[in-house]
Amino acid sequence: MIIPKTEEEIEIMREAGRIAAQCLQMLAGVIKPGVTTGELDSLAERFIRERGALPTFKGYLGFPGSICTSVNNVVVHGIPGDRKLREGDIISIDVGATYKGYVGDTAATFPVGQVSPVAEKLIRVTRESLMRAVQCVRPGATVGDIGFAVESYVRTFGFSVVRDYVGHGVGRSMHEDPPVPNFGRPGEGPVLKEGYVIAIEPMVNEGTGDVITFPDLTVVTKDGKLSAHFEHTVAVTKEGARILTLV
Ligand code: MG
Repeated sequence: MIIPKTEEEIEIMREAGRIAAQCLQMLAGVIKPGVTTGELDSLAERFIRERGALPTFKGYLGFPGSICTSVNNVVVHGIPGDRKLREGDIISIDVGATYKGYVGDTAATFPVGQVSPVAEKLIRVTRESLMRAVQCVRPGATVGDIGFAVESYVRTFGFSVVRDYVGHGVGRSMHEDPPVPNFGRPGEGPVLKEGYVIAIEPMVNEGTGDVITFPDLTVVTKDGKLSAHFEHTVAVTKEGARILTLV
């Protein structure tokens, strides 16, 4: 069941989204070789709590961190800890902030120092695939339009989308209906209506789109190659997409 949001609810979600986005921006300024993913997690948790919000992921399905820190071949759900970032790594950070009971969910992939040309390209293409998907959003468009926009774009670069994990509706819960895959056909899937709020989150792999999920729920690429992840929480308005996870 898809739960549309009122204008008042969307304004609260904008604040939740702003906190999550500002947290991501703060972390972007801290990422450098030698920093551990656990240090990023501590900074994020403090940042979110100081703004009167809660780190949405903490304790979700037993997740121990406040943010997901997914390095190189880790696609999503990387657990923060002692791992030190190294020159040439890429790190995907996923931030969720719950404010006044509503969730803002956003993610981005960052280079650590100087990265390889293919890593740089993967980051750029994944970010652009998200923006192309966001531009599809308006009342009457479908979830299939979004997935098609993502996959058709990344394939032109020889990259693959992950099919086992998808975007989702967002509201009082982090994961609501509808699922929002990064693949699909134009005109297919649920029709978007004014008031829907969805998280669009391309997970794009350098090689195969196949992934392996470990018992701790960490997801890695099957071929060990790189993966990137960008996410915005987006409201469907009369005028089109309104990105809620901007700083
Ligand atoms: Mg999400």
